[in-house]
Amino acid sequence: MNGPPPPPHSLRVAVVGAGPAGIYTAEALATQDRVPVVVDVLDRMPTPYGLVRYGVAPDHPRIKSVVTTLQEILQLASVRFLGELEVGGNVTTDELLQHYDAVVYATGACVDQKLAIPGEELPGSYAATDFVSWYSGHPDAVQPFSLDVRSVAVVGVGNVAVDVARMLTKRPEDLAATDLPVPVIKALRASTVQEVFLLGRRGPEHAKFTSKELRELGELDDVDVRLNSADLDVRDTDVPRAAQPNLRMLRSWVGKEAAAAPRQLNLRFWSRPLRVLGKGRVEALRVERTYLDEQNRLRGSGDVEDLPVQLVLRAVGYRSVPVKGVPFDKVRGVVPHLDGRVLDPAGQIRPGEYVAGWLKRGPSGVIGTNRLCAVETVNQLLEDLCSPGSHRRSLDSPLEELLATRHSPPSTWAGWLAIDAAEQERGQAGGRDREKIADWPTLRELSRGARPEG
Ligand code: NAP
Repeated sequence: MNGPPPPPHSLRVAVVGAGPAGIYTAEALATQDRVPVVVDVLDRMPTPYGLVRYGVAPDHPRIKSVVTTLQEILQLASVRFLGELEVGGNVTTDELLQHYDAVVYATGACVDQKLAIPGEELPGSYAATDFVSWYSGHPDAVQPFSLDVRSVAVVGVGNVAVDVARMLTKRPEDLAATDLPVPVIKALRASTVQEVFLLGRRGPEHAKFTSKELRELGELDDVDVRLNSADLDVRDTDVPRAAQPNLRMLRSWVGKEAAAAPRQLNLRFWSRPLRVLGKGRVEALRVERTYLDEQNRLRGSGDVEDLPVQLVLRAVGYRSVPVKGVPFDKVRGVVPHLDGRVLDPAGQIRPGEYVAGWLKRGPSGVIGTNRLCAVETVNQLLEDLCSPGSHRRSLDSPLEELLATRHSPPSTWAGWLAIDAAEQERGQAGGRDREKIADWPTLRELSRGARPEG
């Protein structure tokens, strides 16, 4: 707890997940005036901020600056951050329910969707989330990326695809001031990538990227953006209002090819991947030209082409993973709920359990969308636990008494501050604000108060 001890009748709430959804949930709880509350925000990482730290691109400091607000919330007197606690791992949902009046699950959506095409498992074919985790310095990143390839296909035309295409084509010197770990900067400097294909399976009017993110692609130095003008041949009346700025921008780029640029970014629409080709590793991606039939179903035209690429990154959406012991709708990839109250498989409300963020709504919307979502969930929680006649369970002792009996206690806010300070120190030594620490041993040593050697 950041402040004095809470009144004994305070509502005790555990929020699982210290990303924006979890932190905004803590804010909605801590700033209401119906009942005194204490909130523990749990995360499996010793670092807070979820996808703001490990998903937002390093060259998007304005988006990352939301951290200032999130930090203020985690420092509120009634809020506490507990790191290195994995629900379903070193603590169970039953244990949380024994120690808190309510548990709010807000673990987000952090694994990738698959393409489900042959060859997808070949070396050289990865999820964009793997690439993002690597350049974001996530200590669980599956592998280091070596960019000693000529051509890359990025499948999907959402904002993640745009982030990845930009990171692959941006001049390394334009990323030097960011918080990228040093090995990532070195790999980007050594990159031999000359050509990136960004592939949309439908038209530009259906693309999910936002205009701000698209505009950045057109502003990259030393990058020649290429489009097929036939892809943009769509009647204005068929273009949804929200997509009109994107289409105008794309049209304005046609014919502006900068032939001498060292890197080429090819935006292709109406192209769906059919198969990843290669003997032992990726050598090409077979794509088929598509169209929408009269029922608006996506159809293949039979017109195929093999793009000679050596790396395929699928950026076709995130997916939530189930929290052990919590109901999960595998088809929709969310926890079934009624306005944030968790429902069991029979559709009955599970008392004391709530859900917020991408685990509740699916992976869509901007960071701020989570604030409204959290408020909705917290309103239900307060309605259930603070209305006249509502019943609160008698709880076991605070969670830390249970955790003290465990091999490894959780890390704390002070532990995060030690990591934060060490990252800033490293960054400043290299002339930038921060350098991410990307390995578990160092993160653990710092979060436990011991400065690593050297
Ligand atoms: P997304 O916005 O849902 O985009 C997914 C893309 O993948 C769509 O173009 C989709 O096409 C395509 N796709 C899906 N399945 C496919 C398949 N089997 N084959 C080919 N293409 C397929 O997902 P996202 O890019 O992962 O972004 C997730 C959320 O994070 C979004 O809300 C996004 O705005 C947000 N985000 C924001 C930023 C930012 O603000 N800078 C950065 C990153 C992420 P269809 O439309 O045809 O399905």
